[in-house]
Amino acid sequence: MRSLYSTFVIATLVVMSVSALLAFMLSNAYYQHFLKQQNDEKYTNITMEITEYIEGQEAIDLHEHLKFISNIGYQLKLIGEDGTTSSYGKPFRTPYIDGAIIESVLSGEVYHGIANFPRETFVTGFFANELENSIGVTFEHNRTNYALFLRPDITLHFHEMRLLFAWLLGLTIIFSLIFELILAKHLIKPLTELNEATKKIKKGEYAFSFDFHRKDEIGELASSFHDMSNQLVELDNMRNEFISNISHDIQSPLSNINGYTELLQNDGLTNGQKGEYLSIIREESDRLSSLTSQLLLLSSINQIKKLRKKEKFSIADQIRSLIIKYKWRIMDKDITIEYTLPDVIYSGDPALLLSVWDNLLSNAVKYNKSGGSISIDIKEEQNYINIIFRDSGVGISSTHQKSIFERFYRVDASRTKEINGTGLGLAIVEKVVALHGGSVLVDSEKDVGSTFIIRLPLTKV
Ligand code: ADP
Repeated sequence: MRSLYSTFVIATLVVMSVSALLAFMLSNAYYQHFLKQQNDEKYTNITMEITEYIEGQEAIDLHEHLKFISNIGYQLKLIGEDGTTSSYGKPFRTPYIDGAIIESVLSGEVYHGIANFPRETFVTGFFANELENSIGVTFEHNRTNYALFLRPDITLHFHEMRLLFAWLLGLTIIFSLIFELILAKHLIKPLTELNEATKKIKKGEYAFSFDFHRKDEIGELASSFHDMSNQLVELDNMRNEFISNISHDIQSPLSNINGYTELLQNDGLTNGQKGEYLSIIREESDRLSSLTSQLLLLSSINQIKKLRKKEKFSIADQIRSLIIKYKWRIMDKDITIEYTLPDVIYSGDPALLLSVWDNLLSNAVKYNKSGGSISIDIKEEQNYINIIFRDSGVGISSTHQKSIFERFYRVDASRTKEINGTGLGLAIVEKVVALHGGSVLVDSEKDVGSTFIIRLPLTKV
């Protein structure tokens, strides 16, 4: 992941370099297309004026005069047709000039070395202290032809240099500013979107989308935010579903109790009818009581993040006592029960685990056929203990198997209606087992039976 900081540093460096390069290229273009030509014309005029003046003054001391001109700020090279050469002013770094150029100047042509100086790309050509980077003009003095080459001493260029640097600096600043503004907008955009999304969430609107494909911290933040909003949507749905389930599950036994109490107020009831109605009222109030106690248990274990107090106890003892508790119901349905329960001392929360075995055994009885069978086995592995509940009951089809651990989920609600249940038992089982670091496995086939395996890690006690 590239950090926002490095993105910013790299982007700033790129922006600065690109701006400087652009400014440099534009300044250079300005020099190549305007300044160079202007300079050439300017110095051609100056050279012409100097030579015209000399030609008009027969008596003038040529060398003294050229020395004077050089002092004003020019570099000069004088080449006579007889081959004599003299230099005035600051010496040229490269004093070479082609013989053919000298010949052409002596024959009367003006040499435009400044305009045609070959260094095309760089402004530095402007400052090159070379004889070729000059203006050449011929003149006659005391019946001798001379070629005079002139270029300004660099100090004279200060004005142009200032202008160039001003352009360079100004353009760099303008380009940097424009690019920085675009960049900042690009960086800030997702934050603005996140801010808008937060406001929407505050108002209870969860549907929004934004670009979270970035790989920096902002991308990560946007992606976490997106996940969080999805969880909020899920939570909101779950809350609504929970309220409607709970209202329904409380409402139906309450209205049954209400209806049968009214019926009981009728005078002409036989003892048999009274007994039947009373047992329905009792069943419904049992249902309400088991619903509220399971809800309380579920809400209390939902708040536990980690088991604090662990105790050593025998799982086999717990299961044996439960088998005794369910004895009558088992006998009632003519179910045969087998068990192999070796005494393994386990360290965990005994009350919570008891509710696990209770739910599993009560399901194995409830969803069993009459004349069916149940087997319970405890098998110890090296680091695990497996508690296996097997029944020959109605079974669960594979489509339902993944949902049975959801709160209030009941397979085939209409059929299971006659069977007392809340749909909370397996949710409790899963949560308690997870708190102990274990897992629940289901293997079930419709109309054949179900096997629930609770796998708990053994911490050596
Ligand atoms: P309930 O209170 O309805 O028993 P559970 O959470 O314990 O709730 O179980 C959820 C659903 O899973 C049950 O309603 C039932 O349809 C199905 N189920 C659970 N255990 C068994 C089992 N041993 N055999 C068949 N179906 C089962």
